[in-house]
Amino acid sequence: MCPVAVATGAEAATAASMMAVPLLLERGALAPADALAGTSLCLGCGACTAHCKVHIPVGQRLAAWRAPQVAPPPPDPLTPIEGGARIVCVLTGSSAWSARWSEATGVEVAVVSTNDSLGHAAWRLGHPGVLEGVASHFAGRELVTGSGAVEEVARAAGVPVRRLPAPAADAVFHPCHAGPRPGPGQLACCGRREGFPEREPDAARMVAEENVRLLGDVITSCADEECACWLRAHGGRVVGPTDSPGCTDV
Ligand code: SF4
Repeated sequence: MCPVAVATGAEAATAASMMAVPLLLERGALAPADALAGTSLCLGCGACTAHCKVHIPVGQRLAAWRAPQVAPPPPDPLTPIEGGARIVCVLTGSSAWSARWSEATGVEVAVVSTNDSLGHAAWRLGHPGVLEGVASHFAGRELVTGSGAVEEVARAAGVPVRRLPAPAADAVFHPCHAGPRPGPGQLACCGRREGFPEREPDAARMVAEENVRLLGDVITSCADEECACWLRAHGGRVVGPTDSPGCTDV
């Protein structure tokens, strides 16, 4: 089930192999640097957990094990909310879909921009204060987002949040971000999750290309704008909630 193991063909990328690494380090069979490299190919999608008979949260355990050994990136400062509406559209990167969403629904929205998904990576790696900052910044508001990472942070911080609906009924839905157990024709993960392309660019590219190969002519309905962009950049036919540069709807 591991999309990285499937795409790379690397036994080192299997959940069983990576989960053995901390033990090998403890027994002196691996150097610390090699142990860190030996757990780097997990992108934390949760696909293996969804198919695990005893539900071991491999992605979470490996991330927790790695956290003290890699310096957690500090979160970007939260930017001011533009507008006084209760519902706040969270824009990631250069996406401007909030205006379209507001027009289509007739709902007045305020807007906030973030380049690090409200500190998602910093929070996942244990940086203190991320959730408290988000809860305080958005007190009394509700968020709308096209990003699974933003949704995860908001939910953990106790801020009401809703995701955009899947944009095309006739496309195969890509659940993204450890959603429901992937079924036939669905993707476990596109490879964009949690800074994986920055950490393991070759493996991330191979995951994207394998997904695109598997999809063939199938149009994928991607609810996550970052995933939609990532798949499109590797040739996938994707409809999604983004109009970022380079992400043209099919
Ligand atoms: S969480 Fe995802 S990437 Fe990590 S080992 Fe499991 S299936 Fe592979």
